[in-house]
Amino acid sequence: MTPHIEIDNAVSAAQAAAPHWAKSDGPRRADLLNALATGLEAERAELVALADRETKLGLPRLNGELDRTCFQLRRFADYARDGGPFACHADPAVAGPPPQGRPQITRVRVPLGPVAMFSASNFPFAFSVLGGDTASALAAGCPVVVKAHPAHPLLSRAVHQLTLRVLASLDLPAGLVGHIDEDSFEAGMALVAHPGIRAVAFTGSLSGGQALSKQAASRPRPIPFYGELGSINPVVVLPGALEQSLDEKARLLAGSVTQGAGQFCTSPGLVLMLDTPESHAFARALAREVAAVVLHPMLSPRISEGYKAGVRSLAAEDSVEVLAEPGWEHEKSSGFVGVTSASAFLDKERLRHEVFGSSCLCVLAKSMAQIHAVLEEVAGSLTVTLWGAEEESAENRLLLRTAQSIAGRVLFKGVPTGVAVTPAQHHGGPWPASTQALFTSVGLAAADRFLRPLALQDAPDWVSQSQGVPA
Ligand code: NAP
Repeated sequence: MTPHIEIDNAVSAAQAAAPHWAKSDGPRRADLLNALATGLEAERAELVALADRETKLGLPRLNGELDRTCFQLRRFADYARDGGPFACHADPAVAGPPPQGRPQITRVRVPLGPVAMFSASNFPFAFSVLGGDTASALAAGCPVVVKAHPAHPLLSRAVHQLTLRVLASLDLPAGLVGHIDEDSFEAGMALVAHPGIRAVAFTGSLSGGQALSKQAASRPRPIPFYGELGSINPVVVLPGALEQSLDEKARLLAGSVTQGAGQFCTSPGLVLMLDTPESHAFARALAREVAAVVLHPMLSPRISEGYKAGVRSLAAEDSVEVLAEPGWEHEKSSGFVGVTSASAFLDKERLRHEVFGSSCLCVLAKSMAQIHAVLEEVAGSLTVTLWGAEEESAENRLLLRTAQSIAGRVLFKGVPTGVAVTPAQHHGGPWPASTQALFTSVGLAAADRFLRPLALQDAPDWVSQSQGVPA
């Protein structure tokens, strides 16, 4: 592998900063996270304008995303100040022979060390330099080395410069948040392979996640790879949900399908219904609403090409009836809606691929058994939404069981886009939604990814007091 001086320097600086940061207390971590939020807000106008030039996501969305990023930083500051990363469980010693008799054991968690973080194209603030991965890693006591995303390199650099100023103002080492500008797959591979890196956080494509995850696993000392990859986010619309306000519900769902030109990991790509006249009417209403929304340009040529190829592949299927199609000849296009049968969906693997962008396939099933079969074939998704399952019944219990077996989050109202940052949140799910279904990348539990449990047995006072991270 060719040498990567920038990576070596950033990882060395992170390694040097790691022991100091691992033993920092909650208030110190909170001070940094709060100061980073304040810094972002202070430079809001310039940063949002720069982000808009690079991503074309629009000022309202980008201002909202900056708010969310500051909110995340402050929630992780509270989490650190309140002792979240330092929570431990102590079992007192019990005299006598085992199994009742036992030594004194305290279970603590220790920071893993430098985390490589891959910025996401679709969240230039919230999943980039100072996004949720960085906030949760810093709260957990780990330095971060950020791999900038080529879709917003100038913003990435500007946010990193701001970060360096905040670190200096708090007398903290610059190595706590490193930044890799190099735009190549090889650089990403080298970062993941670097012996100083102890974990990886990634949001992006299935192919990228698979390649980097393989790299993390094939190191002489493998490390955890927390990848958030593809998801088609089924919305199951049961007959009861179509008895009233059909047009209103179609508008709500279309808003979710077209939001951000569909460039959300939680964008609903599959609407699953029983084959009834009302379902056909709903699919047509959804198509009308989606066609009425003019989408803004996509984030990068790579993403736009992927979207076009995905939609063209769906539209070319004999079994798919196209209800709304992007007008490729216009600069401003709209989204895609198609309808197909559950049998075709189960038969053809390519109908099950995520099309990243504003694309939604309505799948009509002959029976509830086929609805279950479709969900099981999806296999892993960040979300499943169940509309019309308010009443408890044997059928709904069964549906919930299937939904929860494939999803990280099950919704009973609303739409899957929009992921609240709360202690209860889970943003993950079985493969291919994520590479580690036991962990979340959104919400306070995201810090668990970077804290390794450690049992201290019959530890002397000086060890117990340091919680396994000696000064
Ligand atoms: P991406 O292509 O996976 O790129 C993300 C990061 O991974 C980039 O830094 C990229 O490197 C790196 N990378 C990708 N493939 C790699 C490989 N084979 N080896 C080493 N590094 C690799 O994601 P993207 O650019 O954001 O968008 C492309 C597609 O990803 C979208 O069309 C969509 O399907 C999916 N996506 C999914 C989500 C989600 O939330 N699940 C979010 C965004 C995108 P470079 O910096 O060198 O390009």
